[in-house]
Amino acid sequence: QGTLHGKVALVTGGSRGIGAATAVRLAREGADVAVSYVNGKEAAEDVVRAVEALGRRAVALRADAAQATEAAEVVDAAAQALGRLDILVNNAGVGVLGPLDTLSLADVDRVLDINVRGVFLASQAAAARMPEGGRIITIGSCMAQRVPGPGGTLYATSKAALAGLTKALARELGARGITANLVHPGPIDTDMNPADGPYAAGQAAMTALGRFGTADEVASMVAHLAGAAYVTGAEFSVDGGHAA
Ligand code: NDP
Repeated sequence: QGTLHGKVALVTGGSRGIGAATAVRLAREGADVAVSYVNGKEAAEDVVRAVEALGRRAVALRADAAQATEAAEVVDAAAQALGRLDILVNNAGVGVLGPLDTLSLADVDRVLDINVRGVFLASQAAAARMPEGGRIITIGSCMAQRVPGPGGTLYATSKAALAGLTKALARELGARGITANLVHPGPIDTDMNPADGPYAAGQAAMTALGRFGTADEVASMVAHLAGAAYVTGAEFSVDGGHAA
């Protein structure tokens, strides 16, 4: 019986990458887990099976974080499916990088809708139903802390916004014993940012450890925060020293 036994978590964007690793990690600590996805139904169902193999309950819910209603309603759907909601992991996110003059209004809307508005609305919906001991853990980015070169205007804007949201949520929800924290991954080997991709060597070189991280290395920080009662409004780098 892990430290999260009896808790229910929702991991947005839990079908692949950091979200999938987090879902399994939380289940290993004893939580039942809902994962949301937008296109990756089969991948999400694989995560459900991995959680169930650990003896926990799981459900996969299709919800596009770019759609305001879906971003909020998936929180209620998760709580309905698994009976309660204690932990929200705001992980779903997209990265659109490129020179400032190439970013379209559609790019701006899409990235802010998913990375900021969706996180806000999911957090709002979760806060409305979380009991004491609730946890809101959001996945930011090392680009919110240090932008090492050109091309990051839109993505860094979206991820830096989460720092303000996290601090304000901590103040708003602290009296109810609910915490809010932000985790900033560095370069992590996922479909979004493969360790053998064209920009990988440069990213690895910008870390102190000289390598990409794994999704599980981020998931372990999320699991730690899920069990941490006296940590709130804080930012945590899991970035191999990218910000150092
Ligand atoms: P991946 O692209 O590997 O996975 C993204 C996940 O989010 C998938 O499960 C995907 O679902 C889901 N998703 C994407 N768009 C939506 C949407 N509109 N609504 C719901 N779910 C969606 O990403 P990572 O695991 O690499 O990234 C996870 C988080 O970590 C993101 O917020 C990202 O910005 C952040 N991050 C990642 C870094 C990295 O180097 N990898 C570095 C810093 C931060 P589906 O399978 O259905 O497509």
